[in-house]
Amino acid sequence: MAGSIKSIFAGGALLLLAACAGVPATTPLPPPSLDAVEADLARDIAALADDSFGGRFPGTEGERKTRAWLIEKYAAIGLEPAVPSGPDGAREWTQSFTVVRRRPSEQPGASSARATRGGRSVDLSMGLIGVDGAQDAPGFADLPLVGLDPDVEDLRPRSLANRGLVLPASDLMRLGGQMTAAEPRAMIITSADQATFDGVASFLKRGRWQLDSDEGSPAILLLSPEASKKLTGLIGDTAKRKPDSAGVIAYDTILQGSIAQEVERIETANVVGRLPGKVEGSGAVLMLAHWDHLGDECRPPEAADRICNGAVDNASGLAVMTEAVRLAARQGQLDRDLIVLATSSEELGLLGAQAFVADPPVPLPTIAAAFNLDTMAIAPRGAPISVIGWGRTPLDPGIGIVADQLGRTLANADWQNAFLRRQDGWAFLSRDVPTVLVSSALADKDAFDRFMQGEYHGPADEFSTGIELGGAAEDTVLHAALLRYFGSLSKYPGARMK
Ligand SMILES: [Zn+2]
Repeated sequence: MAGSIKSIFAGGALLLLAACAGVPATTPLPPPSLDAVEADLARDIAALADDSFGGRFPGTEGERKTRAWLIEKYAAIGLEPAVPSGPDGAREWTQSFTVVRRRPSEQPGASSARATRGGRSVDLSMGLIGVDGAQDAPGFADLPLVGLDPDVEDLRPRSLANRGLVLPASDLMRLGGQMTAAEPRAMIITSADQATFDGVASFLKRGRWQLDSDEGSPAILLLSPEASKKLTGLIGDTAKRKPDSAGVIAYDTILQGSIAQEVERIETANVVGRLPGKVEGSGAVLMLAHWDHLGDECRPPEAADRICNGAVDNASGLAVMTEAVRLAARQGQLDRDLIVLATSSEELGLLGAQAFVADPPVPLPTIAAAFNLDTMAIAPRGAPISVIGWGRTPLDPGIGIVADQLGRTLANADWQNAFLRRQDGWAFLSRDVPTVLVSSALADKDAFDRFMQGEYHGPADEFSTGIELGGAAEDTVLHAALLRYFGSLSKYPGARMK
């Protein structure tokens, strides 16, 4: 018989959550000692957040040490390598990929651009800053410039392909994701004043990491206020020109130019293990946590402590993952395969998770349930749990049953949804893999807010004996039970995504 789950007040939202009736109850797990689990988590977090791991930035000695730590742990739990490494069925622990960041060159005057209309031409190079998400050494010859009808509300996919869109900086965010889908070859951003130019420039200078295998984003050329005036003067009165049916206005102007940028590439890897299930062809359950953090230069050179050790974010997720898998595995083989994934480059934009879903070692539709673990060591013992991704997968009733058996209460709140797209689980959920993040961390709003405003992404997120592991230990036991439940064909036969 399924029990009901108590309602609790959290984050200003009262959510009454009832578990499904009619699903057979499971035998309660012999409860592992929470003190022992806490001690194991503390040992693992202390190891991974040690200064010798250098803040676990991809491509560094810290990555080498983290991978070695994970592989040793995986092997001790009894996992086997999960990544196909050749035609002979051989498998390895690591799934390698390359990430790339392109940033505008710091050298003034290194980029150049010239616009021509009819017999006239203007030089736009002064103060120009550029970056190209698609190529390392981009250049433009006779790129036709266009504008958008100010009234346009919908951009047709590919309607800007092979053209350069001239756009005021104030309009940058207006059409959101539609701009990417319209696939302009370049965006020429004009700035009305120096403050606007500086604002966009500092954003571009940070650069953006992406998978090297991605097609990339358009080139962006940011024009100084002076150059902006020259270009709009050359194009002339745009109000007199008729847009085409897609809302695109041809400017009868072409652009020549080249962009100087700094390109950085890093080779890195996910670490993937597997515990084969009893029933071949019954799919898999997946548990994941990101291993990477911000490295040993996350503060300016003059700072006293420059290492962002990432004890909570996300040594705690790795510790909970390996401990939960160990506890689940020692109770016997699951029906389904269990895939254990430590992702790289989450902090650079969920890139390891994207690399996994782009080339998964098991077909994504065979993954019956996936659990992400991120930033776990926040709440004390007795805290409720929340589920990021609640209402989006067929996993909710089963999670309710398992939580109820362990005496955990559910406390979902609207504010937590802001994190849905900010965690690795999103790369899977957006590909229709039923994925959730179950954690006490986001259910204790006060403790979570304190962390986000304090240690988060800073040198103070390091291991100390005072680190709060009460909620994380209970979440470890819960995740071991979730793996048992969703790994069982009789308890969870599987269901389609909604
Ligand atoms: Zn982070």
